[in-house]
Amino acid sequence: MIRLTELALPLDHPAEALPQVVAKHLGVAQSELQNLTVFKRSYDARKKNSEIKFIYIVDVGLTNEATVLARFESDHHVRPSPDTHYYPVAQAPAELTERPVVIGFGPCGLFAALILAQMGFKPIVLERGRNVRTRTKDTWALWRNNVLTPESNVQFGEGGAGLFSDGKLYSQIKDPKFYGRKVMHEFVRAGAPEEIMYVSKPHIGTFRLTGVVAAMREEIIALGGEVRFESKVASLDVEQNRVQGVTLANGEQIKSRYVVLAVGHSARDTFRMLHDVGVYVEAKPFAIGFRIEHPQSLIDHARLGKYAGHPDLGAADYKLVHHAKNGRAVYSFCMCPGGTVVAATSEEGRVVTNGMSQYSRNERNANAGIVVSINPDEDFPGGPLAGIDLQEALESHAYVAGGKNYCAPGQLVGDFIKAKPSTKLGEVEPSYKPGITLGDLSSTLPSYAIDAIREALPAFGKKIRGFDRADAVLTGVETRTSSPVRISRHRDSLQSVNTQGLYPAGEGAGYAGGILSAGVDGIKIAEELAKAMLNDLAGE
Ligand code: FAD
Repeated sequence: MIRLTELALPLDHPAEALPQVVAKHLGVAQSELQNLTVFKRSYDARKKNSEIKFIYIVDVGLTNEATVLARFESDHHVRPSPDTHYYPVAQAPAELTERPVVIGFGPCGLFAALILAQMGFKPIVLERGRNVRTRTKDTWALWRNNVLTPESNVQFGEGGAGLFSDGKLYSQIKDPKFYGRKVMHEFVRAGAPEEIMYVSKPHIGTFRLTGVVAAMREEIIALGGEVRFESKVASLDVEQNRVQGVTLANGEQIKSRYVVLAVGHSARDTFRMLHDVGVYVEAKPFAIGFRIEHPQSLIDHARLGKYAGHPDLGAADYKLVHHAKNGRAVYSFCMCPGGTVVAATSEEGRVVTNGMSQYSRNERNANAGIVVSINPDEDFPGGPLAGIDLQEALESHAYVAGGKNYCAPGQLVGDFIKAKPSTKLGEVEPSYKPGITLGDLSSTLPSYAIDAIREALPAFGKKIRGFDRADAVLTGVETRTSSPVRISRHRDSLQSVNTQGLYPAGEGAGYAGGILSAGVDGIKIAEELAKAMLNDLAGE
C-alpha cells in the first residue's frame, strides 16, 4: 500500500472526488486504484476567515506500487504505508492453569483483559461497581433524585470513569506500535461508529459507549475469561515482595501471581490499602478548578466563523492555556462540545464536577474544566497520599457550599471576576444535575488557584470572543483531573518497582490520562504480563 498525506479537498466535496484527486496526484488511472482507505481526515480552522478544507491521509493499493514509489522518491507526502495491524505477542499453552487477575473494568482493565483473553490467558476481572445497565440507573439516581450509590456511579462500575463521558478518543501519547488503532478497531467491532477509525478527533458519546463496553465484556467471557461485578478488592496479598493474590471485600481470596491494577483515579480507599501493604506509591501533580459553560453557538462562531453549524464539522471544541502572573498554568480540560456538566462524585458528602455528551453533541451548552496545575512539593507536601486528602477537603467543602444535597456551588463569570457573589442566572442555563447553588466560589479553592483563574478568564476572552461573558457559568469543583498518586513501575517489565507480579496500569497508577491512552496502556500491560507468565512457566 502507498500512503498519501496532506491531500486537501473542499468541505463539501462529493465522495467520488477523493479517488479522482488520488489518481491525479499519483499520475495513474483511477481504475488502477485498489482498496482506497482513509487513514485520517482532519480540518484546520486556525486561520480566521479562510476557507476550511478537509485534509486527508489515505492508503491505496496499486499493482505497480514500486514504480510509483520510485517516481515519488523525493516527495515525503508519498510513502509506503506503515503496517498498523496488531499482532499478538504470545499464546497461552492449553495446560496453563494459573489465571491473571485484572482489578478494575475501565478502559485500561477492559483492554488488558481483552488482549489477555485473545491470547488465551482467561483473565479473572474484578470490578467493584455494577454492570452497565444497573450502573446507568444508579448514576441517574444521583442526577435526578440526589441519591448516591457509593459503589456504582460515574466513577465506579463496568466501563470505568469513561462510560458517562464525551467519549473523546484522542490523545497526545507516542504510539509507534499503533496500539491506538487496535483500541479503535476493537471499539468498532463492538459497535462504535466506523468513522472513529479516521476522523482526527473521534468521539463515541455516552449511550453508544455503554453498548460497546457490554459487547466487549461478552467477548472476554466467550474467550474463557470471567468478569465479576460488585467484587471490590479490599486487600492485596503480598509475600516477600511478590503478589500472591487478592482478598475481596466479602472475604473471598483469589490466588494469582499476576495482578493488573487498573483502578482509576478515584479508588482512594484502594490507594490507601496499597500504601498500607507496602506497595510503592508516590504523590504526583494534578489540577484543580471549575467547569465553565457557554452556549455552544458562541464557541461554534468563534472557532468556525461562517462554517458554524456545518454538519460535517459538528460542534466546535477549544483548547486554551494561560500562564498567570503568580506562576500558575491555567488550562481548559476535557472540553465537551454540546454536552452537559455532570455530578461525578463516588463518595458521600462530596461534590465534584466533570463533563459528558452524547454522540450527537447537540445539547445547548459547551463545557470544559478550567483548571490550575498543582504539584506535591509546593501545594500538598505531606507524603504520598496528601493529594487525596486535598481532593477530599475541597470536595467536602463544595458539598457544603452547594447545600449538602449534591447540588454544586456555582457563580457567574462576571461576578467571579469582580469577586462578588452571584444571585441570579443570565441567559446561560447551567446543565449540572441535580442543580447548582449560586453564590461565591472564591472559598472553594486555594487562593492561588482563584487568583490564576480570575486572571485567565479575561485572557481567554481575547482568544475566544465572549468566553468571559458575564453570564457564562462556573460550577465547582473540578478536582479529579488525573490521579493524585503514581504507583511506580519498572520501565521494561511494567511491574511495580517493589512488588513483583503487580502491574500498576492506566489512569489511577499515573500512566494514562483519558480513554484511549488507558486502553493503550492496558494492551501494553497485557503483553508484558503474558510474556512474564510464559517466561516463569518455562523456568518452573
Ligand atoms: P477507570 O476508567 O477509572 O476504571 C477503573 C475501574 O476500577 C472502575 O470501574 C472502578 O470501579 C474499578 N475499581 C476501583 N477500585 C477497585 C477495587 N478496589 N476493586 C475492584 N474494582 C475497582 N477521557 C477521555 O479520553 N475522553 C472523554 O471524553 C472523557 N470524559 C470523561 C468524562 C467523565 C465524566 C469522567 C469521570 C472521565 C472522563 N474521561 C474522559 C477520563 C477517562 O474516563 C479516564 O481517563 C479513563 O476512564 C481511565 O481509565 P482507567 O481504566 O485507567 O480507569
